[in-house]
Amino acid sequence: MRTPDQYLSSLRDGRAVYYGGKKVEDVTTHPVLRVAVSHASRLYELRSDARLREILVYHDEGMGTMSSFFKVPRSVEDLLLRSIAIQETTRSSNGVFNIIQVIGSDALFALMIVAKKIWDEVRKAEYYERVLRYYEYVASNDLAIATAQTDVKGDRTKRPHEQSDPDMYLRVVDVTDEGIVVNGAKAHTTQSVVANEVIFLPSRALGELDRDYAVAFALPASTKGLKLIARPLMEVEGVPSEEDAPLSSRGAEVESLTVLDHVMVPWERVFLFKEWKYAGELANLFATFHRFSAISYRCVVADLYLGAARLAAKANGIEEVPHVRDGVLEIVLYKEIMNMALRMSAIDGVLDVGTKIIVPNPISTNVGKLYSNTNFANVVRNVIDIAGGYVSTLPSTLDLENPETGQYIEKFLGRGSGYEGAERYKVLRLVRELVGGPLAGYMLGLMIHAEGSAAASRIALYRSYEFDEAERLALEAARLIK
Ligand SMILES: Cc1cc2nc3c(=O)[nH]c(=O)nc-3n(C[C@H](O)[C@H](O)[C@H](O)COP(=O)(O)OP(=O)(O)OC[C@H]3O[C@@H](n4cnc5c(N)ncnc54)[C@H](O)[C@@H]3O)c2cc1C
Repeated sequence: MRTPDQYLSSLRDGRAVYYGGKKVEDVTTHPVLRVAVSHASRLYELRSDARLREILVYHDEGMGTMSSFFKVPRSVEDLLLRSIAIQETTRSSNGVFNIIQVIGSDALFALMIVAKKIWDEVRKAEYYERVLRYYEYVASNDLAIATAQTDVKGDRTKRPHEQSDPDMYLRVVDVTDEGIVVNGAKAHTTQSVVANEVIFLPSRALGELDRDYAVAFALPASTKGLKLIARPLMEVEGVPSEEDAPLSSRGAEVESLTVLDHVMVPWERVFLFKEWKYAGELANLFATFHRFSAISYRCVVADLYLGAARLAAKANGIEEVPHVRDGVLEIVLYKEIMNMALRMSAIDGVLDVGTKIIVPNPISTNVGKLYSNTNFANVVRNVIDIAGGYVSTLPSTLDLENPETGQYIEKFLGRGSGYEGAERYKVLRLVRELVGGPLAGYMLGLMIHAEGSAAASRIALYRSYEFDEAERLALEAARLIK
């Protein structure tokens, strides 16, 4: 397994990353993008902690020691252990999801199932063989993987082939003996700039006229023509200091607009090519695995906001005031409902007969994810309500450190209850970052859209829900059947 240093040097591979109007020569030394690097490398560091090593390292009979994120789930227990690994790494990364081996393995499990199905149904074995070889390659080399599914989509009401510009969804533009040439772009790709590999998947069900868009494959992040236009939370100018952004300055995820400008994909790396009937199933299966990962890390995010609400309530001396207790309880509900959905997703996991992989239960997963998408803003509202206006107006740490102003800040902001002086200031500063600073906007966007919008979960839930039992009950009650 790789050390953090080996991981860092693997990123110096000539990848085309752009940020702030410039090409980035080396992501590992970039003053702004370093947050993504330190966040991802933390995953490799955490294994040196004996307790976490038990959770994060797995011994496979055939492949030897490997990251537990690559363990293919074969039982309910495997799914529960996967969710624990996601939660522990999120917790040990200051409450920020550490995606770098999670999303790639989510994609691989979905690819295995669909590729096996293609083999069984249309007697085409090569995709499954390629997916397994690729899986062994990334797992045995302990690689960091991003997954790019979301297309830029153009006019949302139109199918890929109906768009005025055919590149609004990633597509095949040429086929050669060596492989396929693809053109287009994917949006919002998390941690691509610090990944070794990027897996590309279709984002929706496709019809026959969209067959050029039915494509799945993987590429090294340094592939010619692959361009990663990064958008970190912290901006070029006014990078928040560690003091003003105690959380996000330590490590954060960075997304990219991921452009593929006529990129050659060798056949060995092609996992779906024009089999349009399987695009929707692949997109949905990936979404189910990834939403299971989402509700895992989101329980920890909820815990962070819950903790911040409690600290703020104590700092203001109001923790036993009825409306404050209610606000705290609303955050508890948010966390625990997601937690229950997560456990039910694992306990009611569905066996894929072809591969013997256990898929998280799509109903519980989408219930948890939909709940999480639609109620996060209420969590933020409650923290703001409890903490007061300093979430918007807290003087900066530099002014606290300036003796001339610091004396006033300490005196006037340092008194409350529970926390005094600089401690109280630090509580308010964390709360400000979570609900009032740039991280707050990022988190709202993330919790509402990442791993699929609310509408996407609604569609998946509606499609997979069994209405027969309920309809039968109503028919009986209406005396229409006995
Ligand atoms: C922080 C963050 C990280 C992310 N990381 C990744 C990642 O690593 N990999 C990845 O692939 N994606 C990633 N995503 C993308 C995420 O899955 C999408 O943001 C989400 O699926 C919504 O897609 P969109 O952003 O294109 O918005 P849209 O789909 O454009 O949504 C905007 C609105 O349009 C509606 N809408 C869209 N299409 C239709 C339609 N046909 N009919 C009616 N209404 C419609 C939606 O329901 C929504 O209300 C990330 C997103 C965020 C915010």
